[in-house]
Amino acid sequence: MKGLLVYCRPGFESEAGQELMDVAAALGGYGYFEPRQHQGWLLFHLSGGLTPQQLLEQQSIAELVFVRDWLIWSGTVALPAEDRVGALIKALRELEESVPRCGRVEVRLPENSTDRDLGNFTRQWVAPLSKGLRGAGLLAEARSSSVDTDRLELLVPDFDQCLIGYSLQQNRARYPMGIPRLRLPADAPSRSAAKLEEAWKVLLPAGRELDYLGGGKTAVDLGAAPGGWTWQLVRQGMQVAAVDNGPMNQALMDSGQVQHVKADGYQWRPRRAVDWMVCDIVDKPRRTAAMVADWMADRLCRYSIFNLKLPMKTRYQEWLVCQALIEQRLTEAGLRFRLTAKQLYHDREEITCFIERTDG
Ligand code: SAM
Repeated sequence: MKGLLVYCRPGFESEAGQELMDVAAALGGYGYFEPRQHQGWLLFHLSGGLTPQQLLEQQSIAELVFVRDWLIWSGTVALPAEDRVGALIKALRELEESVPRCGRVEVRLPENSTDRDLGNFTRQWVAPLSKGLRGAGLLAEARSSSVDTDRLELLVPDFDQCLIGYSLQQNRARYPMGIPRLRLPADAPSRSAAKLEEAWKVLLPAGRELDYLGGGKTAVDLGAAPGGWTWQLVRQGMQVAAVDNGPMNQALMDSGQVQHVKADGYQWRPRRAVDWMVCDIVDKPRRTAAMVADWMADRLCRYSIFNLKLPMKTRYQEWLVCQALIEQRLTEAGLRFRLTAKQLYHDREEITCFIERTDG
């Protein structure tokens, strides 16, 4: 077994690598990575007796922030233009013991690839490749596409080579490469609206969205203008207090579900507790973390989604500081809670965090 092939936001390869080094160390092993700037993926190698399988058995991807998706990397093969399928069949036969027979094969491009020809090639290659691999007995028999299985995954950085690996059905991103494809309706007041939708898709427990969002809940949106996040909350049937000195989208205000509060989001508090507090204010991450922790500790909301904009040179360390700050405050307040965070596809320098109180 070689290691892990890891996907992250292009430019955040070091943060994803550092995060995994900490995971490996906590599991008694040792890991290192090859820095690749702005590729959106990296190879993470393990030693010290810890195998990629053992790491994946003990560490859920849902708890990682900078790692968007991952798979067990088995090797990298050259792809001769005259017979790429044949080259892969040969490589997989040689790797047979280290690659389980999967139900499907998927071919991925690096997230920031701009090579259209390569994009067309990878899309058109999946069908003949699947047929070839199945014919060679290297893929399990075709199943209904609704059946989820371990997946053979290929990353094709260019025409000449591909990385081979497989992802485990029970511990991989919900969306391939951790990227849900979302369509933003034209009436959304801002493009930020897509981010809250992505956060819900990625951070809420799968299949339980209605429990978290439905039933006429109440919400506060701090830093709400022009209203993309408020619009998402309103679409779920919530009554929203939108806190921002800036102007809100008029059509959204006409819904009758929004109260515009012109105030400082860091100081303002609701008279009564609400279900949701979301915050999209760009400020110092520790300031936002402390404010959200106060809301939670004072039981002013049950759920919160908020952004932390991380400083350029200490992005991973700053997240650890904010995480510790929140955990300490909520533990001291006697709360039971779950804190997760992810750098979403719609995030740039920031990460998106989710806290839920789990103590009734
Ligand atoms: N979530 C919004 C959307 O979907 O349309 C976009 C929010 S925008 C990134 C950040 C907003 O935070 C700005 O409208 C700004 O006026 C507001 N803001 C900045 N500092 C604030 C503060 N201390 N209190 C309240 N709002 C603040």
